[in-house]
Amino acid sequence: MKIFHIPAFTDNYIWAIQKDNHITVIDPGDSGVVIEVLKNNNLTLMDILITHHHYDHTGGITTLREMMEGKVYGPDNKSIEGIDVTLKETDLLTTLGYDFRCIETPGHTLDHISYYSELQNVLFCGDTLFSAGCGRLFEGTYSQMYKSLSKLSGLPDETSVYCTHEYTLSNLKFAQDQIEDIDIRNEIEDLIKKIEDGGISLPSTILKEKKINLFLGYKVPNDLQSLCPEDQFRELRIRKDSF
Ligand code: ZN
Ligand code: FE
Repeated sequence: MKIFHIPAFTDNYIWAIQKDNHITVIDPGDSGVVIEVLKNNNLTLMDILITHHHYDHTGGITTLREMMEGKVYGPDNKSIEGIDVTLKETDLLTTLGYDFRCIETPGHTLDHISYYSELQNVLFCGDTLFSAGCGRLFEGTYSQMYKSLSKLSGLPDETSVYCTHEYTLSNLKFAQDQIEDIDIRNEIEDLIKKIEDGGISLPSTILKEKKINLFLGYKVPNDLQSLCPEDQFRELRIRKDSF
């Protein structure tokens, strides 16, 4: 499966799946950058997949709808204009011949869903799971987000993880502040080199996140070890909010 990123705003990635001369985009917050890619590469827009209602993920829908061949998939939220097909837990969709399953991942927002292809080992997780971090809780509870992240970390280790924001380095710096860990330290060094060479931090994998993402609970700071996993998560999220 060919997947590439279209940078948008300051730190958003609009992910594009390509099959021959068609692409499907995930969370097109900005139509302009997508249209440019379509024109410059003679591509046609097939479908749009939406993870949640925030404008930096949905702002391009109405313009792009006019030029697409397929459908707009997204959560069941009437406040999002232009959704053709709403999805809930375990619903399937096929785009460009690839099957994706909807995983409900509330927490960042209540409507948040993620898209998982078991066959291709690919996860589009919007603002739920970031590399070395997770989304802020704007609407959901700590418990909801904890469960959502548990669902995602339960996917196979080799799953490629496509998040919507480039927050990795600042997330890693928070992690380093919380725990003394060789994987986190190495990841910071590697990523700084990668960025200097013009690269980006994504995609990650579930296996990598288990090693560097404290919010998944596989590594726990010393002072949180007496708490239950869900309380560890809550405490970390609160600390990160004010880091
Ligand atoms: Zn968001
Ligand atoms: Fe966002």
